[in-house]
Amino acid sequence: ERILIGFLHDISDRVAAEKELLETRDRALAGERAKAEFLAVMSHEIRTPLNGILGNLSLLNDTALSPIQTRYLRNMEISGRVLMRHVDTVLDITRFEAGKLDVNIARTDLSSLLQELVDSQLSAANRHGTTLNWRWEGPARAWVRTDRAALEQVLLNLVGNAIKFTDDGTITIEAEALSETINGLPVMELRVSDTGIGISEDRLPKVFDDFVTNDPTLGRVPGGTGLGLGIARRIVTALGGEIGVESTPAQGSTFWVRLPMEEGRQPPATKPSGPA
Ligand code: ADP
Repeated sequence: ERILIGFLHDISDRVAAEKELLETRDRALAGERAKAEFLAVMSHEIRTPLNGILGNLSLLNDTALSPIQTRYLRNMEISGRVLMRHVDTVLDITRFEAGKLDVNIARTDLSSLLQELVDSQLSAANRHGTTLNWRWEGPARAWVRTDRAALEQVLLNLVGNAIKFTDDGTITIEAEALSETINGLPVMELRVSDTGIGISEDRLPKVFDDFVTNDPTLGRVPGGTGLGLGIARRIVTALGGEIGVESTPAQGSTFWVRLPMEEGRQPPATKPSGPA
């Protein structure tokens, strides 16, 4: 005699739940796309008239103005440029979300990139009573293949932050060719170190997240969107590298970027050297 036992599960609930989950995800994705599209369109629409305002303000510079008018004009230009930077930040983010960052790898002279970066930021650093310098560590490899504009944007952000959070201190940019490789390519480590306010242990893991901005208890002027390091991380990831930070409160921070870089074919004619 055989006994047959059968089990019957009613899975209609589970099927319905899964279907609902999929629908929710699709709706969320469509929502994200619509949001990104809206932000991209709005940013473009804001950029055009803003360019018109900034262009006309700079024309006013060439006309005879009283000292007070000159001051108002200068304030308008500063605010206009801040607004433009915010708009560009939003555009950058939407571009990344849409996966539209075009990586443009070309032969790049790293020493001239760093020199130009330091030159462009010297006066801002000096306004904080801070010195800014750069140096090579280990075997200098000045010619590399990377995306110059993208790398510049990352370093500009790191140096800008270092200046913002360092008064009467020192900021050092270092480049070191590491012995390790990523995908068979040699790795260049770039470090931006400052002797500024540092970052507390609990905030340290969050600084690369979007919209993480100043610690309000520090009482410093905020003035940031909290997106700079988020964009830096997206760029570095797109270039196949890594970004990180080490910091001690009240002593300073070191942000590092490790990027795989092919060596440029031609060696530099002269050995690169930083300012004394
Ligand atoms: P933002 O500068 O617009 O606030 P970021 O994403 O560039 O945004 O930086 C996030 C936060 O990380 C900053 O607000 C600050 O609290 C902290 N931070 C970044 N760089 C430094 C630095 N060099 N020294 C101290 N704190 C820093």
